Amino acid sequence: MSHVILEACLGEVYAACVDVCPVECIHPGDYKDQKFMIIDPEVCIDCGVCLPECPIGAIVGSVDESPDWAKINAELTPEFKGHPKVAPRPQNEPPHKPMNKLVK
Ligand code: SF4
Ligand code: SF4
Repeated sequence: MSHVILEACLGEVYAACVDVCPVECIHPGDYKDQKFMIIDPEVCIDCGVCLPECPIGAIVGSVDESPDWAKINAELTPEFKGHPKVAPRPQNEPPHKPMNKLVK
């Protein structure tokens, strides 16, 4: 099992989650021509510290909560895990997409 990053992150990528992960398993890349982030399911230890860090609530705590996006995180992992870190956005910056809302 693993935590999972959802569609809401697509094109947002606040990257607030990255630096808190104790096992460095959150990686950036492009998906559907937009910036995205995935959690490597083989490395994630389900510690849960990333989840409350995401300003738009784009992380869920189990594969069961979003099997489709869990599959996408897993499929993108081999490509994304070699990419360098991206600079975080300010956490109080409004989301780019109107459907996303700041939750913290
Ligand atoms: S903090 Fe949220 S929006 Fe930012 S990269 Fe992580 S999951 Fe995506
Ligand atoms: S649950 Fe823990 S190990 Fe997994 S991605 Fe989040 S911070 Fe990293």
